[in-house]
Amino acid sequence: MSEHGDGPRGERGTGHPGPDRVARLASDLQQRDVDALLVTAPVNVRYLTGFTGSHGLALIAREGAEGSPGQNRFFTDFRYATQSAEQLPEMYAREIVAGDMLEAVAATLRERGGRLGYDEAHLTVKAHRRLTALLGEGWELVGATGAVERLRAVKDPAEIASIRAAAQLADQALRETLELGIVGRTERDVAIELELRMRRLGADAPSFSSIVAAGSGGALPHAEPRAEAIPRDVLVTIDWGAEHEGYCSDCTRTFATGEQISAEAREVYELVLSAQERGLAAVRAGPTGREVDAVAREVIVSAGHGEHFGHGLGHGVGMEIHEGPRMSQTAGEEPLRAGHVVTVEPGVYIPGRLGVRIEDLVVVGDDSHEVLTSLPKALTDVS
Ligand code: ZN
Ligand code: ZN
Repeated sequence: MSEHGDGPRGERGTGHPGPDRVARLASDLQQRDVDALLVTAPVNVRYLTGFTGSHGLALIAREGAEGSPGQNRFFTDFRYATQSAEQLPEMYAREIVAGDMLEAVAATLRERGGRLGYDEAHLTVKAHRRLTALLGEGWELVGATGAVERLRAVKDPAEIASIRAAAQLADQALRETLELGIVGRTERDVAIELELRMRRLGADAPSFSSIVAAGSGGALPHAEPRAEAIPRDVLVTIDWGAEHEGYCSDCTRTFATGEQISAEAREVYELVLSAQERGLAAVRAGPTGREVDAVAREVIVSAGHGEHFGHGLGHGVGMEIHEGPRMSQTAGEEPLRAGHVVTVEPGVYIPGRLGVRIEDLVVVGDDSHEVLTSLPKALTDVS
């Protein structure tokens, strides 16, 4: 038995939503001096409540706060009456709303007054206007963006298990795809094959549209797979991931399609690999994302390729493919913490010629890290 009890909710892969996560929110709500938090983004609603439907709102009460509605509430419509009854922990009072959900939220709060936190990055201007009108003078709407995201960045063991399983099945799908050979097949065909195999192996979906980019196509960090045959003796970058139990994986490998690749291709590959290994070695709780980015970037800059590495070293991965923390020159001020799950993915892109990116998915530990990607990183010929 885990401390939150075992049950179907864990198997549905939202970890263990419930009292623990809401308790972790409490100090953040106190700091922001809000009495209640309105959670509108589906991914955050799912994280806090376990509800996997598309239409639901959560109202989190800050315990002891003056204007607090006293109980945590969940609002949805009749389509989700059965599903929400099955998925929600008892700590939420459930309301099946026939009309406007914002009206129902306001009706819960109207008797009181205080500060209501909301997600500025998600609530529309229209909904904000309506909520302001419905709540009247007693309530002040306060931006509380990032409160749930900050919690989500630190994963519990059940969440890490889901991400690990996603990474394993993505790795397996790639191995199976490569066994069929890729030279002569189109980038698009290889991407479709890979995504089909991930689904067959149990993925809910690909965690993003797979990238398969050969030769000069690899110079575009976010290349779309083309309907063009993959030639012999070039580099091919494949960036893919699986979504499993509501959690994402993310991995990139660059392969050679023959022994006759250019000396430049080999050189760039070895450079990116050494940057990746240096960056990876720096991943542990303590340094900021910016500091880890700098470790890997320094290797590429010293080799004269700084201008060819135009993106950050990595990003957090969880219920969303890109989430906190960021590891980059500009958005990496947060220290890494144990339980963060991040990618380490330096790349060098030489316009019109070639590109190399190597990406591992990593769990941050107190003194080190665990790599969830199982595929080798030495340059491999997959023709
Ligand atoms: Zn990736
Ligand atoms: Zn990535």
